[in-house]
Amino acid sequence: MGAGRGEGLTTSGAVGSVVAVRRQSGTGARTMAAVSDTAETVTGAGARKRVLLAKPRGYCAGVDRAVEVVEKALDLYGAPIYVRKQIVHNRHVVETLTARGAIFVEENEEVPEGATVVFSAHGVAPEVYEQARERNLKAIDATCPLVTKVHQEAKRFANDGYDIVLIGHEGHEEVIGTMGEAPASIQLVDGPDEAEKIQVKDPSKVVWLSQTTLSVDETMETVDRLKQKLPLLQAPPSDDICYATQNRQLAVKDIASRCDVVIVVGSVNSSNSQRLREVAVDAGARAAYLVDFDHEISEEWLEGATTVGLTSGASVPEALVEQVLAWLAERGFTDVEEVTTAEERLTFALPPELRRDLKAAARS
Ligand code: SF4
Repeated sequence: MGAGRGEGLTTSGAVGSVVAVRRQSGTGARTMAAVSDTAETVTGAGARKRVLLAKPRGYCAGVDRAVEVVEKALDLYGAPIYVRKQIVHNRHVVETLTARGAIFVEENEEVPEGATVVFSAHGVAPEVYEQARERNLKAIDATCPLVTKVHQEAKRFANDGYDIVLIGHEGHEEVIGTMGEAPASIQLVDGPDEAEKIQVKDPSKVVWLSQTTLSVDETMETVDRLKQKLPLLQAPPSDDICYATQNRQLAVKDIASRCDVVIVVGSVNSSNSQRLREVAVDAGARAAYLVDFDHEISEEWLEGATTVGLTSGASVPEALVEQVLAWLAERGFTDVEEVTTAEERLTFALPPELRRDLKAAARS
């Protein structure tokens, strides 16, 4: 179901919503062919109008799982299902799940005692689990396993007496959750210019970790600045910036220098989508724009453009990209070339507490 599970689109009848759009082998290629079969459009200057479509794009394994958790919880327990914070940072996903009976809240206190609550893909601090226990909530944890990995690293290094420098965006839910694992040991650095402020108790025992959805290039710039002050700074045991973030950035980098304009489908509060827009400009696109929906695209952005790049953040259903492609085709951008820089096949199992209940329901 995630971007790594195949190609093409279909909808799941069991779920019956646009959120349930799933990728299957073949259909995507047919869509491209159908678009390409139409008459080639030529500008006044004689240049062909085309779209370079980055792949991988859209749903990652963690988002796919988190959305499925809410869908399955609605099917199994019935509405309403409470979700603490946006399950993933995408307007369309949140609106669609709301229409199905999900109620999005900011904190556990808004959830009635004894009700079911899903924790979002971005992860939560340990105190949030504790609050849920105190309110007798049935908690289902949709935290992405790759975020959980960073939490575990933070706990382990804190227990071993390390100072931890967390590179991330202040106020982002993932950062709040990770810092909550070891608040006394973690300091946040939000960009290279903040490297100077770090103070540690033992410069030989410091490690950096990061938010999963950062710009790879900017993070390494921050690490370089930190190393000027802390030469013995240790790197995380494995990449904290996740495979999906890295793959989408590499894909957009690959097309950006050939594009006049890059359109990134994604929401403004989506960190990885925002980074895609920045990476596109840094990699040579004349301009890059972030839109939730096709109707937000301005005709003016395309003035004089012959090549438009298109990608989408890790929380964006493919149906929204298809709508943008249709919008572009109506304006003469009928020649679509999908540029693939990586294949993704990673999937994550549903949380054990939900799997257990699904099994029990299947037996009864
Ligand atoms: S962007 Fe990465 S860390 Fe975030 S949910 Fe997707 S796979 Fe997990």
